[in-house]
Parts: sequence; C-alpha cells; structure tokens
Amino acid sequence: MRTKYDLIIIGGGVLGTFHVYHALQLGLSVAIIEKDKAPRSATTQNFGQVVPSGMNSKWQKYGRTSLEIYKTIQSDFDISVRQNGTIYIASNQEEVQLIEELHKLNQENSYSSRLLTKEECVAQYSGLNPKYARAGLYFPEEVTVEPRQMIHRLQEYLVNQKGLKLYTGVTALECKRIAEGVRVSATKGVQIEATKVIICNGKDFKTLYPEHFEQSDLEVVKLQMMQTKPQPKTYTLKGSILTGWSIRRYEAFTECPSFKEIKANEDQNTLQKEWGVHILFKQAVDGSVILGDSHEYAAAKDADDLSFDHDIAIDEFMIEECKKIIALPTYELQHKWIGYYAQCKKQDVYLKTIDDHVHIVTGIGGKGMTGSAGFAKEHIQKIINK
Ligand SMILES: Cc1cc2nc3c(=O)[nH]c(=O)nc-3n(C[C@H](O)[C@H](O)[C@H](O)COP(=O)(O)OP(=O)(O)OC[C@H]3O[C@@H](n4cnc5c(N)ncnc54)[C@H](O)[C@@H]3O)c2cc1C
Repeated sequence: MRTKYDLIIIGGGVLGTFHVYHALQLGLSVAIIEKDKAPRSATTQNFGQVVPSGMNSKWQKYGRTSLEIYKTIQSDFDISVRQNGTIYIASNQEEVQLIEELHKLNQENSYSSRLLTKEECVAQYSGLNPKYARAGLYFPEEVTVEPRQMIHRLQEYLVNQKGLKLYTGVTALECKRIAEGVRVSATKGVQIEATKVIICNGKDFKTLYPEHFEQSDLEVVKLQMMQTKPQPKTYTLKGSILTGWSIRRYEAFTECPSFKEIKANEDQNTLQKEWGVHILFKQAVDGSVILGDSHEYAAAKDADDLSFDHDIAIDEFMIEECKKIIALPTYELQHKWIGYYAQCKKQDVYLKTIDDHVHIVTGIGGKGMTGSAGFAKEHIQKIINK
C-alpha cells in the first residue's frame, strides 16, 4: 500500500476536505485522516446554509468563490446543493434600514440582491406572519446543502473520481519531522509520510499540539438545534431564511453605516441576549424544517466546562419565537441536537505554522459551510508555494 504523498490532511470536516479538493485540483497526491467512521462533527451538525451575504467583505469573497465551487461539483456529482436563495426578513424600521444599506453595499460589490416588499415576502414564504415581516432582502445566487449528506458525498466523489486516499476511523497522534517532510503516526498502526501536512482539527484541541491551542484565543461554541417532522408535501419553504436578530448579528451588517447606532439602542437584558439566540429556518430535503439557534461559549482550554445538557427553556423560547415568524403546518419535532464549533475571539480563523511543513488551520467559526471552499483555495496555494 502507498505510504508517501505530497500532502496529508488531518481532519475530514468541510475545511479539511476542501483543502483536499484544491490540492487534488493542483495535481498533488493527497491522503486524509479522519478519526471518526465518517465525519460527524460541526460539518454535519449545522443548517447547511451557504450565505456569503451574511459575511464581511473579506469573507464574502471567499463565500462567493465557494458558491462557484459547490455549483461546479454539483454539476458533476450530486453533493446535495440546491440553489433557492437566501432571504433576510426585517421585522421593524431599524432592520429595514439595515437591509436597505446592505443592498446598497452589495450593489457596489456587484453581488446580486433584491429588496422585497412585505407583500412579496408574504407571498413567497408560505406561513410568514404579515405582522412580523416589514420587508426582505433576497440573494438569488445562494445555495443550501444537506449537512448530513454533503461531506460524505464530497469525499465519495474525491475518492472515486479524483484519487483521494481516505483513512477513516483513524486518529492522527503525532507529526514527526523527517528528512523528506513529515511522518504522521496514527491509530491502527497507520504510518504515512508527506512533504506537507495540514491539520484541520475542528474543535479537537487535545490530540495534536494541545500546548498551542491552550495559549490561543480559540473558543468552543455550543449551539442548540431542532428539526421538525416532515411538513405536508404541499408545503415548501425555499432556501435559507434569516430573520431580524440575524440582521442584528451577522458580520455583513456591521459594515452598514447605521449598524453601530442601532446596536447601541438594543436592550441588553433579554433572554435573546442571554442565550445568544437568533432565528433561522431551512427546509431539508425530506420536507422537515431545521430551526435554531442559541450560542454558549468557553475558551479552548475550558471547553469541557460546556454542559452537555440540552436546556429545555432555550428550546421552548426558540420555538415560541419561530411561531411568531412563520406558521409552519407542524412544529412537532423529530430531532434536537447540540452542535459545537471552534472560533477565535479576535481573528477570523486560526492559522499556525509549526515549521514550514506542518500547518494548522481551524476556528473558522459559524461560517465554515460558506467560507471553507473559497478560503481553502487561496490557503492551499500559499502553503504549496512556500
Ligand atoms: C449548529 C451549527 C450550525 C451552523 N450553521 C452553519 C451554516 O448554516 N452555514 C455555515 O456556513 N456554517 C455553519 N456552521 C459552522 C460550520 O458547521 C463550521 O464552521 C464547519 O463545519 C467547521 O468545519 P471544520 O472542518 O473546521 O471542523 P469539523 O467539522 O469539526 O471537522 C474537524 C474534523 O477533524 C477530525 N479530527 C480532529 N482531530 C483529529 C485527529 N487527530 N485525527 C483525525 N481526525 C481528527 C474530527 O473528527 C472532525 O471530523 C454551523 C455550525 C454549527 C455547530
């Protein structure tokens, strides 16, 4: 069996797998090591909203490249990409002002968006409460993916059609510098070598280089998520639906001229603030609707302090708020889960070079399904050119 590659990626989430994709596109031989039987971390626990519209201008560029990459792969192999657009629904005058300003910024950036009247929103999003919606901002280019399918299908595509060597159920334990590059030792007796190694470990800070993570500004975020039972076949809710609190939270809006003033007026003593809740909807392919989410934080070194409990009060609060926005035919739930991702407090992503041959990239935060494909394209080129 082959044991030498140009590149080894450790971690088979979306960030690691898109590094693989671009390395293969560059003609490199690549192996990926994933500790679980199949990836089951943040990359499978999310909404699957690919929303460059929500990002600041730096990351919107990566997100827009990601959109092209998702669509290109989808045209070759079904990785569950659907292009149904993204809508931001404003619930009051301040939020209307923010979406109008974001629309203008996107016009200047040549990124397609359309303002919708309240009546247009209500007509296009079945069950939307006309008392909640004041206006909407729609991004037609944006897509969704199925988080529990996309990464597995993408890896299947890369293995069968692009020559990726995939090790699953194998934990990388050590990266050792050798004359020609790096030797990676892993569980199950796996020992492979490569010129370069990129570690995309998500929120696993205990196995490789824990000392670096302990000293970093990385933190782990815990999110509560819910999914309804499939809605009746006649009911459809297209694309990604983001509402007022997302308008007040997403990075894109921080670049709007009125953002600071509007934020300064917010009441800080609310349950929404305490639990970091904003309300998003996405209909999955089986007709169910994914609902969420809430946010709790712990520094990387204290990540074990995050409780593993599902706080029922938070779920009930979120469901109540969802019902004020969209009257789904059923709010009966089929799943609840807790998702975790890693993010940096001060930087947009964590990058560390151990020596010129071992690179760590993680902490992409809540933007990984949107930003990874585009970011990895640029990042892999920097690493390879070094
Ligand atoms: C609830 C929730 C909702 C979200 N919604 C969205 C959304 O709608 N849109 C969006 O853009 N983003 C969203 N995100 C963020 C997105 O899911 C993450 O940014 C992204 O999945 C992070 O990918 P990753 O590859 O860095 O990490 P992960 O998905 O955690 O992958 C890391 C992988 O590395 C493996 N690993 C770690 N250490 C080792 C080792 N030593 N050896 C072998 N394997 C190892 C792990 O098993 C894991 O599979 C959401 C996240 C959550 C939790």
